[in-house]
Amino acid sequence: MPVNGTDPRSRWAEYLSGRKLRATLPRRQILDAVAQSTGHFDAESLRLRLKGQGRRLSRATIYRTLSLLQGAGILRRVQLLDDTLHYELSRPADPHHHLVCRRCGSVQEVLDQEVSRGLAALAARLSFEPEEISIRLRGLCSRCRPPAATRSQDRVSRAK
Ligand SMILES: [Zn+2]
Ligand SMILES: [Zn+2]
Repeated sequence: MPVNGTDPRSRWAEYLSGRKLRATLPRRQILDAVAQSTGHFDAESLRLRLKGQGRRLSRATIYRTLSLLQGAGILRRVQLLDDTLHYELSRPADPHHHLVCRRCGSVQEVLDQEVSRGLAALAARLSFEPEEISIRLRGLCSRCRPPAATRSQDRVSRAK
């Protein structure tokens, strides 16, 4: 049994009926696909995944439904790249941040209770009620960084 209505299906049904929206087939299909997703996805890759399962949905339907799912608190929008919006299942109890490699595009999730606590304290001090906390560190991952030896040599030769 889902705890506190956190099951995406019941939350979705509740949200739709609360707004007098019908649980249409596309809305149910998109919820199913989203609930099975692990990690991050964008609207277009979701559309292609559904298409691969024989479910042809228009881009407009996908975008509208993703924004409803976000309103329902089922999805969270994350800015990983500058030009594409990504989504992931919302895990409010489990805040995490993203390290995005600008070269290979890999995304690492880091749980950091300390950062989250610090930001919550900062917000409280300013009487600001955060609805969303999202931190993105952009740079080079360990695979894409030049080896440490080269870097320190660089620094030495530049210092001379
Ligand atoms: Zn990389
Ligand atoms: Zn994430």
